[in-house]
Amino acid sequence: MTPDFPTDTPPADAVAERRQDFIRQIVREDLASGRHAAIRTRFPPEPNGYLHIGHTRAIWTDFGIAEEFGGRCNLRLDDTNPAKEDPEYVRAIQDDVRWLGYAWAELRHASDYFEVFYLAAEKLIRQGDAFVCDLSADEVRAYRGSLTEPGRPSPFRDRGVDENLDLFRRMRAGEFPDGARTLRAKIDMASGNINLRDPALYRIKHVEHQNTGNDWPIYPMYDYAHSLSDAIEGITHSLCTLEFEDHRPLYDWCVDKVDPANHPELLAPLTGKGLPFEASKPRQIEFSRLNINYTVMSKRKLMTLVDEGLVDGWGDPRMPTLQGIRRRGYTPDALKLFVSRLGLSKQNSLIDFSVLENTLREDLDDRAPRRMAVLDPLKFVLTNLADDHEEALTFSNHPKDESFGTRTVPFARELWIDREDFAEVPPKGWKRLIPGGEVRLRGAGIVRCDEVVKNEAGEIVELRGTLDLESRPGMPGADRKIKGTIHWVSAQHAVEAEVRLYDRLFTVPNPDTDDDGKTYRDYLNPDSRRSVRGYVEPAAATAAPEQGFQFERTGYFVADRFDHRPDAPVFNRSVTLRDTWAAGG
Ligand code: ATP
Ligand code: MG
Repeated sequence: MTPDFPTDTPPADAVAERRQDFIRQIVREDLASGRHAAIRTRFPPEPNGYLHIGHTRAIWTDFGIAEEFGGRCNLRLDDTNPAKEDPEYVRAIQDDVRWLGYAWAELRHASDYFEVFYLAAEKLIRQGDAFVCDLSADEVRAYRGSLTEPGRPSPFRDRGVDENLDLFRRMRAGEFPDGARTLRAKIDMASGNINLRDPALYRIKHVEHQNTGNDWPIYPMYDYAHSLSDAIEGITHSLCTLEFEDHRPLYDWCVDKVDPANHPELLAPLTGKGLPFEASKPRQIEFSRLNINYTVMSKRKLMTLVDEGLVDGWGDPRMPTLQGIRRRGYTPDALKLFVSRLGLSKQNSLIDFSVLENTLREDLDDRAPRRMAVLDPLKFVLTNLADDHEEALTFSNHPKDESFGTRTVPFARELWIDREDFAEVPPKGWKRLIPGGEVRLRGAGIVRCDEVVKNEAGEIVELRGTLDLESRPGMPGADRKIKGTIHWVSAQHAVEAEVRLYDRLFTVPNPDTDDDGKTYRDYLNPDSRRSVRGYVEPAAATAAPEQGFQFERTGYFVADRFDHRPDAPVFNRSVTLRDTWAAGG
């Protein structure tokens, strides 16, 4: 994908307006005119990989529109290519759709309809609309012609119905090796649309299928299976991405020629399986794909990252998969807000990664309780407090929302502060701690640094200072003006934690170009994952997995879905507080 189109940053108030998108407009008209009593959509992923952020647009469209207009949406696994498909993906897809907050009316598989597709193919043969072709794949390609040249008819195009039926039945019986023959639609070898030049409907493939085992040595092609699945399920609006626009005439051809709505005999196999159907004539409508820079979003490329060990599996928090960004701390609401703001259109565009990150910040700012964590710890001893000094301070959990309540934060003589909040030689404009200087400890009072303790190598190992007791909360001097405020945790009470500092997986906006013989593999960000050991306050350590927090002054973090334990906390950085990439990374 080349981003030769502008990046798109819609204003926040565009959401309501985008809800008037052209697909919703069509749905409204179809309901108002009585063309459909209710709408029915489907989300049809191929289980050949994990879902990614791009799929969120399709899910939000298919499930969201059905929900909005009181319709129904099926989850249909498009499992017509057994060689690439895996039950692991099927499970992850269902998990992801549920996580986004959607419920399917029915879970279907294209393979549920293999019997129907087969009967429909025999019908096409009898109608003279399909034939068995003995050309090899290479020959088919040579006969197909090009954009400027018409194709040539296959020498097998005029086979009689009986011969075609006999050969097709023998294909089905497994008599021929892979690739020996195909069943092709008989449409128009001179069509300007190459998809209509007698496209294949079935190919021979002796491969075991995850649902149907070894029942079928032949498998239907995508266009044929997809259009008929829609028609069988009574889909009213078949929503898909723009690359299928040129396939729409074939989609319509398959539905019209098979016409399952008027041929109940074709659907008989479903009754036996207890699969309800209400055949219809679906309408395909295309919208543009969601593309984001600084990432790759094709399952094939994501699979390569996984297979080559360049990431830690499909669910690596740096991956744009839904499993990955979920583990990273993205919320379903942030994703849905993101796609709903962008809306639906027929124009391809490339969205800046920062738009996604800003949406997450916005969502987490509202929903994430605040906590304190120190990621690069430096000891700070308050020498005017007793060794056993211990108190419980009360902190509000959210600065803007009282409903988050309060929590107790332990305070004691020895603290951890962040190394970067102290400078021996401060740069210009420095507001934090310096030798002899003062700073406010968030919620605890003003401290002065009296002494910098170093080791033999000259490295700072500890600061010693005093707490101004008159500046404690509730004391007359509590409001004394001071320039900087820093966060801290009590060394005695804090819990040591592993903190994974994730960042963008690629260093360039368009890792997908093949310029200079480089590929996306060459643009992996070596700093996209750093792990540090820090300290978190007790009320962060006790979090449940997947609980998100703002670590004050540090960023948004989430308790790792799989590895976090209260006695051994693991937090993942979801996003920094501010965009650090804006000025070019
Ligand atoms: P990929 O190119 O990532 O492998 P795909 O199109 O092969 O994706 P499918 O599993 O076939 O993936 O997709 C299921 C549905 O999701 C399809 O309707 C497809 O149009 C839609 N979809 C896939 N990628 C995107 C995207 N980036 N933006 C919007 N919709 C998408
Ligand atoms: Mg696909």
